[in-house]
Amino acid sequence: MNRAIDTEVLIVGAGPVGLTLAIDLAWRGVDVMVADLRRAGEPPSVKCNSISARSMETFRRLGLAARLRAAGLPPDYPNDVASRTTATGIELCRIGIPSRAERYGANDGPDALWPTSEPPHRVNQIYFEPILFAHAAAQPRIRMLNRTAFEDFTQDGDSVMAVLRDFDDGARLSIACSFLIGCDGGKSTVRKRIGASFLGTPVVQRVQSTYIRAPALVSRLPGKRAWMYFSLNPRRCGTTIAIDGRETWLIHNFLYRDETEFESVDRDWAIRTILGVGPDFEYEVIAKEDWVGRRLVADSFRDRRVFLCGDAAHLWIPHGGYGMNAGIADAANLSWMIAATLAGWAPLAILDAYEAERRPIADEMSRFTMDFALKIIKQRREISAEIELPGPVGDAARARLGREAYELDVQQQCCGGLNFGYFYARSPIIAYDGESHPAYTMHDFTPSTVPGCRAPHLWLNDHRSLYDALGPDYTLVRVDPSGHVSGIIEAAARRRLPLLVVDVDTSDARSIHARLTLIRPDQHVAWRCDEEPASPLELIDLVRGARAIPTESWDDQSHANRSQTRRLTPRSTTI
Ligand SMILES: Cc1cc2nc3c(=O)[nH]c(=O)nc-3n(C[C@H](O)[C@H](O)[C@H](O)COP(=O)(O)OP(=O)(O)OC[C@H]3O[C@@H](n4cnc5c(N)ncnc54)[C@H](O)[C@@H]3O)c2cc1C
Repeated sequence: MNRAIDTEVLIVGAGPVGLTLAIDLAWRGVDVMVADLRRAGEPPSVKCNSISARSMETFRRLGLAARLRAAGLPPDYPNDVASRTTATGIELCRIGIPSRAERYGANDGPDALWPTSEPPHRVNQIYFEPILFAHAAAQPRIRMLNRTAFEDFTQDGDSVMAVLRDFDDGARLSIACSFLIGCDGGKSTVRKRIGASFLGTPVVQRVQSTYIRAPALVSRLPGKRAWMYFSLNPRRCGTTIAIDGRETWLIHNFLYRDETEFESVDRDWAIRTILGVGPDFEYEVIAKEDWVGRRLVADSFRDRRVFLCGDAAHLWIPHGGYGMNAGIADAANLSWMIAATLAGWAPLAILDAYEAERRPIADEMSRFTMDFALKIIKQRREISAEIELPGPVGDAARARLGREAYELDVQQQCCGGLNFGYFYARSPIIAYDGESHPAYTMHDFTPSTVPGCRAPHLWLNDHRSLYDALGPDYTLVRVDPSGHVSGIIEAAARRRLPLLVVDVDTSDARSIHARLTLIRPDQHVAWRCDEEPASPLELIDLVRGARAIPTESWDDQSHANRSQTRRLTPRSTTI
């Protein structure tokens, strides 16, 4: 049996990235199909534990932030990160992070004063992914195809023809679409079919990971509760993460370089050592969740009408909690550009911006997290037995390790730079003005309106978030209401580019810098100036991709040449 259907966009993969992309596209009026191997409602694995502030800003725009914020740990459960000799042992340091009940009003803690309407949210994937799935499935513009495997595709200048297989009746499905997007995870079939390869470091760290039920653990944990416990001792280092805040926990046992098999270390011994409990302690293994930390970025995110997002495009060790969150940023970036081409106000050339913007960021983030992983691996190997001694020698060793652990760990637990600091430096659709982008690290950043940066967030005088005032498409933010904008408005209307003008009424307009700032649909700055440009039409054409010089030709021959080059690239990795 062969069934044929069509849609505007086909997304392969209903993980967090595919679902966010589908919801964002539907929000922009695009018809979407999402195919996934899993059955509807089949739970994800328990791996991902935090939604970044930047992703929560995206979910706020999509009307989902409150529902997501209400999920996960009990409202009053502290989100602190405590380093201890073992989970039940002596505390070395603590990073204070508010519970979700206190999150919005909090002003104490290293991430409490971030300039955002949506602080980060500690919540496991088993709680938030079903919310995304239910919301996507309820959208009239989204059709979910569960238990359906993507197999292959062909494309020409106008469309893509994808071939999928229905698991239940074995039927072959042919889906014609304008765009195909692979959000199908690290082992992505779409990536393989476009001939892209992962490059980088295939193994940074192996982790023996176990999801357990241990109702008695809470009563054995001394002092204030924490969301995550780092166990630092010379026998076995690991983390214990609260999943439901009552009885379920995820335990990561960080294997040493010479422990090349997941089972090379006795799992039960490792769990008891990380927790600091004896043989009498009872727990049940719910699932083994072993994983490998990698640093891999695809050498291409695209073949003409076919794109990669999320883990299909990049994989790295989840320090900073920024794997999925980077994929959500990919989705927010690609969604508006695809919607713009389908709506007709942007040419296909705008899509060159996706890879030009997102691939360098993926590469940079992958290096931040790998460098961080190497530092933390070194720290774990150097822990002396003194930290468990009673008395002044032990106290001094614990104080020293506590200081070092705090300095290192706060960078990943409160990674402001990964959230807000990244900028698009070489985009064909951004009007640069010569000012340098402020440097950022994993932890630190400087809000800026230099074109390419995330627009600085600020609260307006009516207590609204600036981001809530922005339109779904381009927004021209005007600090001085007497400033002329009629030329830009006319140029946008001529090109049918949707544009909202927002007059900013705030005592903090200084963070906007220029009198006029053009903000993109994904909240990045496209252009700024104190007055209208001499040729507003040139500006509008630039930001809608009509002045971009395509980075690649769309003809089949040049693609064949590129694929050939890729196959010859050394150091590629297949997973
Ligand atoms: C231990 C651990 C902790 C982590 N913690 C965090 C964290 O705190 N924060 C964070 O941001 N990231 C974290 N990550 C990373 C995060 O889990 C991933 O980046 C994220 O799940 C990627 O989402 P995705 O939607 O791109 O891919 P996936 O979640 O892998 O989803 C891919 C989907 O595609 C489907 N699929 C695959 N092949 C096909 C096919 N041929 N046809 C149809 N469907 C297909 C699969 O069934 C799946 O549903 C963590 C990772 C690990 C291992």
